[in-house]
Amino acid sequence: MYKPIIGLEIHIELNTKSKMFCGCKNDSEEMRPNFNICPICLAHPGTLPVINKKAVEMVIKAGLALNCEINKTSYFERKSYFYPDLPKGFQISQYRLPLCKNGVFKLKINGKIKKIGINRIHLEEDTGKLIHPAGEDYSLIDFNRSSLPLMELVTNPDIRSGKEAKKFCEELQLILRYLEVSNADMEKGQMRCEVNISLLKDKNSKKLGTKVEIKNLNSFRSVERAIDYEIKRQTNILKKSGKIVQETRGWNDIKGITISQREKEQAHDYRYFPEPDLPIIKIKKTKTNRDRQIKTEINLQKIK
Ligand SMILES: [Zn+2]
Repeated sequence: MYKPIIGLEIHIELNTKSKMFCGCKNDSEEMRPNFNICPICLAHPGTLPVINKKAVEMVIKAGLALNCEINKTSYFERKSYFYPDLPKGFQISQYRLPLCKNGVFKLKINGKIKKIGINRIHLEEDTGKLIHPAGEDYSLIDFNRSSLPLMELVTNPDIRSGKEAKKFCEELQLILRYLEVSNADMEKGQMRCEVNISLLKDKNSKKLGTKVEIKNLNSFRSVERAIDYEIKRQTNILKKSGKIVQETRGWNDIKGITISQREKEQAHDYRYFPEPDLPIIKIKKTKTNRDRQIKTEINLQKIK
């Protein structure tokens, strides 16, 4: 028997009133294309971003609910890559010092408690949206989503089945809704889930199997079905002494199968470096005596 090693990467759109670095309205349901835009989220030369403190607070709130350590110092970095929906040519994200790390989430599965480690939670900006009209030889772009606050949560590879992954996503959605951090509706793209999955040959083996990434998962059910399908597919290959290819696969919900999208090219070099246009975030924990509530104080400090 092979042991499935599964980790999740989940992107969550935050419920703030305005975007991550400008005053534009954060409205993921706006139907008029390029309506909530300004020179900052369109990355015109000479414009400067300003941190939305509410978004920072929301990520810390989620981190505390998931038993994370909150980094006292955190900052944004530039992640450089070229894509038409990314007007700056880089994405403002976090790399070395995310807001939250080393959390643990206790799931109740079949009457037992299962602990799933939270590797990190960081804050970044969303990209625009490309639209490819059927049968046409051009693409359209809508920047309404550009620079919406996006929280990325990465779990440790502690998940062992499709059922556990589905349960994790469902419970996470409940927490995020309770905290009023996000609606986390998967069908609306407010919560986007990517799965990393490999199989371990025998239980005690330390050598990890080849990792496959699954994308295009639009519901809790598809998370579960895609993982169960992938476990079977990889098991069949390994049983015949075949080799698993390191690749990204997409989920086809109608056919109920994963399909190869692209093989892993060499690792990307994103050339991360601290965003010079934004201050460093200093976070202080203060306990109030009366109700023993933990408050966080966020201060922004100029980079010297
Ligand atoms: Zn804007």
